[in-house]
Amino acid sequence: MPDGDSRRQGRTLRDARGLAEAGLIPPAAEADAARVAQRFAIAVTDQVARLIDPTDAADPIARQYIPDLAELDTAPHEIPDPTADGPFTPVTGVVHRYPDRALLKPLLACPVYCRFCFRREVVGPDGGLLTEAQLDAALSWFERTPQIREAILTGGDPLILSPRRLGAILARLSAIPHIETLRIHTRVPVADPARVDAALLAALEVDKPVMIAVHANHAREFAPEAASALARLARAGIPLLGQTVLLRGVNDSPQALEDLLRAMIRNRVKPYYLHALDPAPGTARFAVPDEEGLALMRALRGRVPGFAIPHFVREQPEGGGKRPVA
Ligand SMILES: *Cc1c(COP(=O)(O)O)cnc(C)c1O
Ligand code: SF4
Repeated sequence: MPDGDSRRQGRTLRDARGLAEAGLIPPAAEADAARVAQRFAIAVTDQVARLIDPTDAADPIARQYIPDLAELDTAPHEIPDPTADGPFTPVTGVVHRYPDRALLKPLLACPVYCRFCFRREVVGPDGGLLTEAQLDAALSWFERTPQIREAILTGGDPLILSPRRLGAILARLSAIPHIETLRIHTRVPVADPARVDAALLAALEVDKPVMIAVHANHAREFAPEAASALARLARAGIPLLGQTVLLRGVNDSPQALEDLLRAMIRNRVKPYYLHALDPAPGTARFAVPDEEGLALMRALRGRVPGFAIPHFVREQPEGGGKRPVA
């Protein structure tokens, strides 16, 4: 595990046995869950486990994290690297698709493993932590690429790095004259809020502005612990953006989306993107047709303040980037 893991307060369930023992799946489902886990990693933090109602077969939190045998069926349109990061990787750990901004993926581990993840073929607890040499090469790429004005840390989840390592990366990026803003995409504030402690806040304090895009898909993810983590980040002067994937059975109704967007703005999170599902292998049960997504977007107008309405976007195949769904 990445070096920050020992700082966690609670424990993370990482296999079918653990899910069954915690009562999150029935004993009879353990064998199937174990089969899925051989292909796609499982992680459910104690925070997320507490949010799940195991008596509700359609629980929208469970649906995001509990493995399902359907994941082993790949639909004809599903592909391993749906956002086509591969061809846009100038050095290991960097994705450069837009002229002015690029992604840095310092690791490919996450606090939780989402069953609909677009990078599910590459994320996992033992994958993708850049070596010191690879990290140095990736940071050098940012230093010698003057058109880059924003560095976006993603992964995996950069906020599970140790504060020491994260702070070193942010400080080096912040010192690059042509870099104007830094951004971090993360699920930590909702999935493992105890990590947002004084050491992490100190690591985020660099000269350049840091923004955080929080990935959350359901209002119930904004539990009291998440609310305090987000308040700590906001009080540290960090603008918070909300990022959501439109998911069948999680947030595919006007009421569920309204509740989610309201939970975001109550917690100082400005809704930014609503992503159409990327066709990663074994995720078909989450797909919502574009026409339905557009109807949901129309339903939101008038239900929530204008500033609470996200952009509804889809990644173009072959790495064309994000485009509004139309
Ligand atoms: C999504 C993405 C970004 C960020 O795009 P914004 O529209 O600025 O949020 C940057 N680079 C890559 C490769 C991306 O996929
Ligand atoms: S936290 Fe993000 S990268 Fe990690 S499994 Fe979930 S969607 Fe994928």
